[in-house]
Amino acid sequence: MPANLIEFMQLYGSDDACRKVLIEARWPSGFSCPRCRHTRGYELREYPVIECARCGHQASATAGTLLHGTKLELHKLFLLLYLLVAEKDGANCKQLKRQVGVNYKTARLWKLKLSDMLHCREKDSLIGKVEIDETIVGGGDDQSVGRRLSSRQRYVLVMVEDRGNECGRLRLEAMDDAKSQTLATVVQSNVQKGATVHTDGLRGYGAIEEHEIAHEPEVIGDPKQASKKLPWVHRVASLLKRVILGTLQGSISMGWLPWLLAEFEFRFNRRRANRRPLLFARLMEFGLKTTARTRRYFLKKGKMFREMGLS
Ligand SMILES: [Zn+2]
Repeated sequence: MPANLIEFMQLYGSDDACRKVLIEARWPSGFSCPRCRHTRGYELREYPVIECARCGHQASATAGTLLHGTKLELHKLFLLLYLLVAEKDGANCKQLKRQVGVNYKTARLWKLKLSDMLHCREKDSLIGKVEIDETIVGGGDDQSVGRRLSSRQRYVLVMVEDRGNECGRLRLEAMDDAKSQTLATVVQSNVQKGATVHTDGLRGYGAIEEHEIAHEPEVIGDPKQASKKLPWVHRVASLLKRVILGTLQGSISMGWLPWLLAEFEFRFNRRRANRRPLLFARLMEFGLKTTARTRRYFLKKGKMFREMGLS
């Protein structure tokens, strides 16, 4: 994989190179016609498409993937996706417009498609020791758990694998409340049976044990001790709040929060991939297995765009 943008451009700088990558990814062990199973075909010049030599069917390498039906030149699309994942906190659409030479709407659409893909992909459950704590994100200074939240606030459950000297994978999930039923459901869908969950003394966590997950509550008397007893979740929570404040000036649409969390999670879980192109490789791996939503779908969610400052 390329170590930087120059290498990236050398590998994926032409439509032809990108086309070959897509065809290789779609048919790793050689072409097979999806209609008649014939194994010989002709590559089209301009598209990642192989025409079957027997039945003439034109099989697209990107059908049913994130790249489905795109009209953008492939090398621009690859560069766009690369920049979207390569920038530490995510590229913004104005930057992309300039760097890739696409229009603003195109940049925005791909940013959304990417977030959506990260949001919808299947994730492996957390295992081993898992630190869990709830935090509140969004406007206002009143951040005490247990109070009614304003319409601009939301609970986020932070779940991090504790691997002793380092932290493992992270999961984040937005919640409407921090009631015991909600906590148990969210934990159960993110943590594998047999794992041990480490939380503060909040009574709501008690219900976790009904799901074959061991629970070690720790009563934290002095709030100053909280960051020592559950160090990983506290670090993540403050980082998350900084990202929300920094990139979004604190104003986020609560409707958009799950997508934002998915992107944060993806970056956090691959933070050691200092070779950013590895992120691109991972992205393409998901991307070629997922169908992207259409522009129409996102337009319906136009309110979110505005609130995210994307439109
Ligand atoms: Zn065929």
